[in-house]
This record gives sequence, C-alpha cells and structure tokens, in this order.
Amino acid sequence: MKAIKKRISLLCSAALIALCLSQLALAESGSSKVVGNVKEPKSGSSSSQSSSSRPANVRDRYVDDSKANVNDPRPVIEPDIVGNTRGKKTEASSKAAEKSSAPKASISSTSIDPGETLFITVSGVKDIKAVTVKNDFGFSVRLSADPSRENTYIGFLPVSYFTAKGSYNITVSGGGLSTATFTVAVSGKQFETQYLTVDEGLANSTINNDEASKEYREVIWPQKEKFDSKRYFDGRFILPVQGGINTQFGMVRYTNGVAGPRHDGVDLDAKLGTPVKAAQNGKVLYAGFVKLTGNTVVIEHGYGLKSWYQHMQSLSVKEGDVVKTGQVIGKVGSTGFSTGPHMHFSASINGVYINPLTLVETDLLEQAAK
Ligand SMILES: [Zn+2]
Repeated sequence: MKAIKKRISLLCSAALIALCLSQLALAESGSSKVVGNVKEPKSGSSSSQSSSSRPANVRDRYVDDSKANVNDPRPVIEPDIVGNTRGKKTEASSKAAEKSSAPKASISSTSIDPGETLFITVSGVKDIKAVTVKNDFGFSVRLSADPSRENTYIGFLPVSYFTAKGSYNITVSGGGLSTATFTVAVSGKQFETQYLTVDEGLANSTINNDEASKEYREVIWPQKEKFDSKRYFDGRFILPVQGGINTQFGMVRYTNGVAGPRHDGVDLDAKLGTPVKAAQNGKVLYAGFVKLTGNTVVIEHGYGLKSWYQHMQSLSVKEGDVVKTGQVIGKVGSTGFSTGPHMHFSASINGVYINPLTLVETDLLEQAAK
C-alpha cells in the first residue's frame, strides 16, 4: 500500500470553514494545482490528505448509485418502441435474408473494468417484450430500438465502480432467441483512495449536513431513475470545458477515517465564467441549485445515459430544453461545496456512474454495433 502525504489548503475565511470542510469531504476543488490525483502542498494548510491504493467497500452517502436500478433483476422493455421498426415480410424474402434476421443476442465485450459500460444488442426477435436479460450485476437492462438498424435493440449494462473482481454471467433469452449466456470478466482495477484529516468537531458539524443530503436525495436522486427510450446522442461526447483533470473518476474518500462519497466524475480545471458546453445532444432533465452541488444540470442523452454538470456560476438552460452537442448550458463557477472554480463532469447509466472520459474517447454506438 502506498501512502502519499499531501496537504490541502482551505481557501476560505473562517466564516466559510464549515462549508469548505464539507467540500473537502466531497473533495470538490478546482483551484489547487495538482500532481497526479492529489493536490500540491500549499502554505497555511489546516488539514492533510493522503492517498493509497487500499481498496474500500464503501457507499456514497449523497451519490448512492448502489441503490438505483440494481435491485430489480427483471428487464424493463420500453413498450413504445415495440414493433415500430420491423417491416412486414414479403414473398420476395430470401432464405438468406431470413437467416440474417434470425434472432440474435450479442455483447460488446467479455472483459471490462469497473466503472465502464457494456451493451447488449438484440436483433431479429419477433417480440422484444418477450426477451429477458438476466445478469449477475443486478442491473435492470432496458432494450430500446436502434433507429439506425432495423429490428435491432440496444441496452446498456453498466458495471459500477463498486463491482468486485470476478466473473459475471449474463443470460439473454425469450422472443425466439436461443438462450445466450455470456461470461464477463471484471478486472480488479483499483481506484485511488484519499484520506482527509480535519478538525473533528468541525467535521462533525459539517459532514453530517442532513439538510443538504436530504435535499440532494429528494431533488437529484429521482433524476437517476428517469429513462428516455429515444436516442439523442450520436457519436462521441465532448468535454464540457477544455481543462486539465485535477480529480479522477471513482476516487474513494475518507474524512477523519469515515468513508465519504466516491468521486462520481472528473473535475476539470477552468476559470470562473468559462462557458460550459453540453457534452452531447440531449434533453435537460434538471437545471437548478442544490446546496450540495450548487448550480447543477442533468442531461438525458437517451437509453438512460446522462451527463451531470455541477458547481456552475450560472445556468442558461431549463428543464425540458433539448440541447445540441456544444451548446452552452451555463458558466463555470464554484457554487455548492466547492473551494474554487472548476467543472465537475459526470456520466451515468441511470443510477450507475461510469467513466465520463470513456464517452469522450470512444464512440458508444460503434461499440454497441460490434
Ligand atoms: Zn468533482
């Protein structure tokens, strides 16, 4: 186990110490120069931080992706897309054509790191509602029509960063399919751990901020459950701002030895007021202020894939807006529990957070088409 002692500075006045300590628990800092995943020492530090590769089986208090959509193993099939993409057979149909449209199920990969996503593709079935996707991940896979391929349906199967190393089975059956079982090897990828040490009394008065956590649960968590069978996204995502990454995806955090939230996205360096761009086409599910994450936008990109933007100075979209890739949705700020201007950027499949950089570096649809 490696341990790197680092000190982190508080950037606020005494009156804001409470706020900053809560922020430290969330490790939302965009103002400190960073080497690797930890912040460089600054003078006047009043707290310390260390990093280790020690694994930790912790759950997020505020960002609880352990509960969303993982307890119900039944697949959820969107009824509005059933039967809309299959043309009627004609007498001219050849045996070859029939063969090519034979029921088939496939998976995008049989090996994956935690914090990434798989895709299930089903084609040629007579009744998509009859198809079931059972899986050891406990995620309710929803199959939605692929508008670019006739009689083809795609469903995300995200692998949470909480998932332990091992082999996991996925079985796709029904609807005329020969039962297909896939075994996926999940790697033992380790996420870095940070240990924050702050004054115990102050920590107790801020980390247990029931009002903020209650608001987050009531306002933000319901967004995770929403699902749009329409596909808005098309191709790779873009970063909402151009800037270095100063906090990585999936980091485990402790404050005074107590497990805090996992870092569910990446923190991008950016100056106050920098325009924040929508990472892909989508529909705004939420745009508003919450105490924990400040001015926040959640965009649905289709099939349950969402992007999250936090701590903004101001917002320029509202709930229900349909946005295009690159459209400005707000400005970089430091609202909520944040010590300096930066862009917190996350991505999730419903309630399961995935590495947002994967969406930027790869084309999901190309992956799904394999
Ligand atoms: Zn962040």
